[in-house]
Amino acid sequence: MQDKPTGAEIRQSFINFFVERGHTFVRSSSLVPGGDSTLLFTNAGMVQFKDVFLGTDQRPYTRAVNAQKCLRVSGKHNDLEQVGRDNTHHTFFEMLGNWSFGDYYKREAITWAWELMTEVWHLPKDKLWATYFRDELNEIPEDREAADIWLAQPGFNPDHLVPFGRKENFWEMADTGPCGPDSEIHIDRGLDFCEFGDDPDHICAVNGDCGRFLEFWNNVFIQYNRLSPTQLVPLDKTHVDTGMGFERIVSILQDTPSNYKTDLFLPLINTIQVMAGQNDHEREANLTPYRVIADHTRATTFLIADGVVPGNIGRNYICRMLVRRAARFGMKLGLHDPFMADVAQVVIDEYGDFYPELKRNATAILDNLTREEKRFAKTVHAGLEHLDELLTDIKTKGGQSLSGEKAFDLYATLGLPLEITRDIAQEQGLDVDGAGYEQAMEAHRLISGAGKDFGELGGEQVKVYTKLLEELIDTGKLSQSGVHYEPYRAIEEPVEVLALLNNGAPVETVQTGDLVEVLLPKTWFYVESGGQVSDTGQIVNAEGKAWNVQVTGMRKPAAGVIIHIGEVTRGNPRVGDLALAQVDRDRRIQIMRNHTATHLLHSALQDILGRHARQAGSLVAPDHLRFDFNHPEPMTREELLTVEARVNQAILTNFQLRIAQKPLDEAIKEGAMALFGEKYEGVVRTISIGEEDVLSYELCGGTHVDETGDIGLFLITYEGSIAAGIRRIEAVTGWQAYQVARERMNLLDQVNVKLETSPTEILTKIEQLTQSLASAEKEIDRLRKKLVADEFDQNLDKVEQIEGIPVLKAILPNANIDALREMSDKFRQQYPSGVAVLASEQNGKPILIATITDDLVKRGLNAVELVQKVAQIVGGGGGGRPTLAQAGGKDASKLHEALDQVHAYLRGSLDQQ
Ligand code: ATP
Ligand code: MG
Repeated sequence: MQDKPTGAEIRQSFINFFVERGHTFVRSSSLVPGGDSTLLFTNAGMVQFKDVFLGTDQRPYTRAVNAQKCLRVSGKHNDLEQVGRDNTHHTFFEMLGNWSFGDYYKREAITWAWELMTEVWHLPKDKLWATYFRDELNEIPEDREAADIWLAQPGFNPDHLVPFGRKENFWEMADTGPCGPDSEIHIDRGLDFCEFGDDPDHICAVNGDCGRFLEFWNNVFIQYNRLSPTQLVPLDKTHVDTGMGFERIVSILQDTPSNYKTDLFLPLINTIQVMAGQNDHEREANLTPYRVIADHTRATTFLIADGVVPGNIGRNYICRMLVRRAARFGMKLGLHDPFMADVAQVVIDEYGDFYPELKRNATAILDNLTREEKRFAKTVHAGLEHLDELLTDIKTKGGQSLSGEKAFDLYATLGLPLEITRDIAQEQGLDVDGAGYEQAMEAHRLISGAGKDFGELGGEQVKVYTKLLEELIDTGKLSQSGVHYEPYRAIEEPVEVLALLNNGAPVETVQTGDLVEVLLPKTWFYVESGGQVSDTGQIVNAEGKAWNVQVTGMRKPAAGVIIHIGEVTRGNPRVGDLALAQVDRDRRIQIMRNHTATHLLHSALQDILGRHARQAGSLVAPDHLRFDFNHPEPMTREELLTVEARVNQAILTNFQLRIAQKPLDEAIKEGAMALFGEKYEGVVRTISIGEEDVLSYELCGGTHVDETGDIGLFLITYEGSIAAGIRRIEAVTGWQAYQVARERMNLLDQVNVKLETSPTEILTKIEQLTQSLASAEKEIDRLRKKLVADEFDQNLDKVEQIEGIPVLKAILPNANIDALREMSDKFRQQYPSGVAVLASEQNGKPILIATITDDLVKRGLNAVELVQKVAQIVGGGGGGRPTLAQAGGKDASKLHEALDQVHAYLRGSLDQQ
């Protein structure tokens, strides 16, 4: 290429090169891996093809080319430390790849790589280097094949081929599973790129520690299956998996010294520079903040487009951390007001053509960034100040690192993510105890989702099914594509039982009571996917043999294999028998109602709350539907009712559903809603509802009603929060909705009967009742006080003279503490000098009040001492002032005995004088 190609042109030239060689272009999957809870983010091109390598899925093509969105800030691949500090690592980056699934192998892969690099891109041959695998333990054969193919490339310098061992050149998906040698391609960028030129001990070399040799493409040749740490068996089918760093190849082809100087980043960097008001010289002196802001804004823009908004846990935490880290670096450039939305707008403009999800979600992206920056601004200064104090303290004490506990506290209370705390500590020559932080975080149960890169692999178990499948294909019982899956139409005709499995192994026959897996040549039982649960039902014999299997679940253990899981409830099913598979229709219909209602709900939420209110999770079950979506605050009652009404309007309009198959690209262009976390490929199924004004248009493989009227009725039963920024709605339809409504109405009827009223008058009635209850309570209170006063008056007769002092001890059974206090006042009014101890029982517990007139307090008596002495007997204690004190206790039966203490106290206390 003569003029410098643009990044977009380079991406396209890679894709075109492989499309011309029989590859199918496959869109990037979401940054949130579909159906893979073990991986936080897509971190390589192969993530969406993992199932193909594991043999649990197959694709309509055997050669593919893609540009995959990747994020490496968690788990096994975490490049965050490098981002901002070097020119070649990003958090978010694109990986270009060409793929062979059991099709071509090393020869084509290497030859094409060489051709693309030297003939299409005209990279200088004498600057290119390649590595190949040679086992340092001498256990796995050296990859001579790859080495020889490299040596055969026209113009390849044989001295530029270097062997490396397992760490660099043997690729494994996990502890077990598909694996194989790889071959990396490096380019010599020249002596200027070496940071250690003056160091006499430094040797510039491939895989060395300086910037001169840059790895930009890895070609992996999957040829083994690892069964254990020591067991490696060759695969029947070999695969090619390649990954080229897009930003790196663009910097090579545009001949820039840094990825950040390519047209992929410059527009972002320029925008930041204008906002910061710096000149070019100042910018060069401040590279790290520029790089971090550009990188993190790009990453969070793509993340939010894929539905990951800033939040407290898992993926959402990563998004929050990246926004805050960028904001903190912004402060270094004097950017104190929210600024990321302006940079994100440039990302959307620059990348939106190839990644249309950015344009579609532009508002959500900009709003979420600004909102998160504002949130951070509220606490950041307190956080930074507090951190500074902590770090100064450590330094004066000669310490090395900040404890994990403290670092976690900084996040939990002042919103300072660990990554920022670590940046700042490192700037001051200190470290942070990351393990301690994890512990503290674990203790607060904030962590979730992060795990090993790949979960349990199918391994041996998958084999049972693939072997079975091969046999059935060989004997002509099944076609090449395996079990025919037709969940959209009832299959009424008898089919042959092709296989039965019991305890994971194929068997000829099973008995009543056995748990069984049944394989049929075709099935209309739905297999759980897209939130919709599997069908249940039964499989019965079709030849009068009287056997019966109750089907409780479905699964797809390997590509082409669909299994009915159940229990034999009658007779002895046998392989070769003819059977009828009957889906539980009522349950299925209810599921279909809930599924179509889910689509209507989704579109109503977007209409009422805004485009950001996108699906974040869904369950379509027979008895209810559950829908999680992005929204920062609780829905108001009015919003909920409007959404519910919208859905019911659509139901009553009785729209016909339109279901069509079309190429994914076409559907996306037409505006169909794709859900993040789902895998789509090739031809997709689309569901649209509404005529001229399309209400809802989604990609979906689920089962739906024919017309919206079939849903009957839609009622929301719950709205709440499940995580930061994510709300949940639960709802019912059809028969369940009727039941919910009926139950509520029954309840209302019962209330009406009890209250002897009618639905229209019930509220007035309730108000009347509350009012008359309140005035009755007031009246009771008045009467009780009168009763207590009467009781007290009667007791006044019993005032004794002890040591010349009038003393009253009385139990007033109807008095509460207030009444006792009132009666104490009354006693004082009548006796300017005297002592009274009044008691009562409230809710089974004794209460006491003691009062002593001022003159006697001067003579040494104390109400607190008195009440405590008395309360001791009833198992309690009390307090107050010398003139008035109160106490409680446990045993009311001892009140009489307790009051006898009064005499002893008075005598004792007065004697002391
Ligand atoms: P490195 O050693 O440079 O970190 P890697 O061995 O981790 O690279 P692979 O996992 O083989 O890289 O990924 C394939 C290609 O993706 C690399 O050759 C590189 O060009 C690119 N790549 C990997 N990590 C990043 C990153 N953080 N930012 C940009 N490009 C990357
Ligand atoms: Mg790496």
